Amino acid sequence: MNKFRNRLTALFVLLIGLSLAGAGVFTAQLIKTLYIESQQDNLAREIRLLQVAYRWDLYDAEASRLREYQDRIAYLKESAGARITLIRADGTVVGDSDQPPETMDNHSGRKEIVEAKEAGIGYSIRHSATLDADMLYVALPLREPGGAITGYIRLAMGLAHVDASLKKLWLFLFAGLGVLTLLAGVVSYRLAHGLTRPIEKMMRVARQITNMHYGARVKIRTRDEVGQLGAAINTMAGSLQTQMNRIRKEEERLKNVLENMQSGVMMIDAGGTIALLNRSGEEFLGISTGELLGREYGEARMPFELAQMIQECLDTRQPVRDEMIVYYPEERILEVSLNPIAQEDEEEGTGALVVLHNITALRRLERVRSEFVANVSHELKTPVAAVKGFAETLLAGAMNDTETARAFLQIIYDESERLNRLIGDILELSKIESKRVPLQYSPVDLPEFLAKTVQMMQAEADKKNIRLEAACEPSLFMEADEDRLRQILINLLSNGINYTPEGGRVRVTAEPVLLENGTGDYDKIRIAVSDTGIGIPKKDLPRIFERFYRVDKARSRSSGGTGLGLSIVKHLVELHHGTITVESEHGAGTRFLIELPVVQEQPGRF
Ligand code: ADP
Repeated sequence: MNKFRNRLTALFVLLIGLSLAGAGVFTAQLIKTLYIESQQDNLAREIRLLQVAYRWDLYDAEASRLREYQDRIAYLKESAGARITLIRADGTVVGDSDQPPETMDNHSGRKEIVEAKEAGIGYSIRHSATLDADMLYVALPLREPGGAITGYIRLAMGLAHVDASLKKLWLFLFAGLGVLTLLAGVVSYRLAHGLTRPIEKMMRVARQITNMHYGARVKIRTRDEVGQLGAAINTMAGSLQTQMNRIRKEEERLKNVLENMQSGVMMIDAGGTIALLNRSGEEFLGISTGELLGREYGEARMPFELAQMIQECLDTRQPVRDEMIVYYPEERILEVSLNPIAQEDEEEGTGALVVLHNITALRRLERVRSEFVANVSHELKTPVAAVKGFAETLLAGAMNDTETARAFLQIIYDESERLNRLIGDILELSKIESKRVPLQYSPVDLPEFLAKTVQMMQAEADKKNIRLEAACEPSLFMEADEDRLRQILINLLSNGINYTPEGGRVRVTAEPVLLENGTGDYDKIRIAVSDTGIGIPKKDLPRIFERFYRVDKARSRSSGGTGLGLSIVKHLVELHHGTITVESEHGAGTRFLIELPVVQEQPGRF
């Protein structure tokens, strides 16, 4: 910008200087002309004075008279300050104030004489070789009374002093010109500064905008073109700011989506560098983004299988799908899907987008399902085989023996009963698992509820002479699906009765779980079902809630167990947002502890 300002100033100064110089030259020329003209007039006037003041007889005069003329003009030269020459009409010089006339050549061809002859007055400016100076010559003719020209009087004056005066004038002119130019320079500089300052400011704002300070604005002071340019820059900055905000928001949104995705996403650019890795990706691979970003995938610490898949995708430019197992930070099965990303410029090559899905739960579920199907088939096979076997034996002739037939039919009946129970339990479990039947919550009066439930199991307990007890403080209420809660307790109580030898005891208690703040408030109820039975070995404890898991298969089967009771209990407790734990000592007894919230959170409830 400084350059522009300087150029502008220089231009102003040049223009002003040139016009001043032009004006100076013109003035000097004018002065010179006017001066010379006035000198011409003066000389002409003096010649006329000489014409009337003296009688000039240039032809007939005797030599003495000519000498007298010579003396006169020498004397007159002193007072006129000009060279005086007397010339005859034929051009012969007969008198001259500066030189002996006889040494001078004929003057008839001199410009001033020719003009004087034709126009009555003649002027000329010539360089005089004798005086080595510019001379102004003025000549007027001398006439006899008849009007014929008898000669000429010529006055000549050196112009050296004119030149000196002009030189002085030039000096003044140049000095003035210099001062004026200097002044003009200062004024021009200030003017240029005033002109360029708003532009400089705009440039500064434009530079700020380039450096991504989109809030920068030009202060508009005028409504002229500069002001309009400022307004245009402001509008441009405004729309840039809006656009950038939109892009930033969009970017933020995309980033949020990427970061909160359940799937892992990794982007490899055309050069094979890892350009992006989201949070899930970090978690799945157990590598922080900082370790991976900007590094070449071959050099980065990542599962070898994954690096190979990336290589394949980049080489073939085809999508790649596969599964891999990672063991760190935890064992996971990942579904890896790679897609080539075409770059805008083909020559840049291809990048790849890697998407990782955690399919561990899916695979586990599939395994559990197939195991379940295998287990169900296995469980069904035994009673069906028994029914089939005994029916075949009956058909083969055993039915003729009434005693044997009765015993076999009883077995067939028992087995089909077991089948029925098994199918019933499987259906129940699948119903609970799929949450097809929503729970119907209602307040449950626990003392009354426990008493009734125990009563229902009493007959079974009596069969084995087992003491069945219920203990609960009065007026203890909780919210639950009463039927489901009863199913939980019946399953646990019947297990207790089943796995407790004759003469034992099965006990159910309910109590509030007091909060630790000492106010006596509670938000949970603990129900415990304990027995004095055979207990469960420690190694089996973690697995007893699994479907079809039994500690002693034969025993469970003989007691009519399906191996699904505790699974159903666990699911129902979880549906009630509670927890179930088990404590047991092999040979001494078992205790199931259930903790359930007093009030159930229900959707839409305030
Ligand atoms: P089952 O129908 O065989 O009783 P459950 O799912 O109810 O199936 O129980 C799973 C296994 O846990 C049982 O086979 C049994 O071995 C063990 N078990 C459950 N309750 C008790 C208990 N009160 N005392 C000892 N063992 C028990």
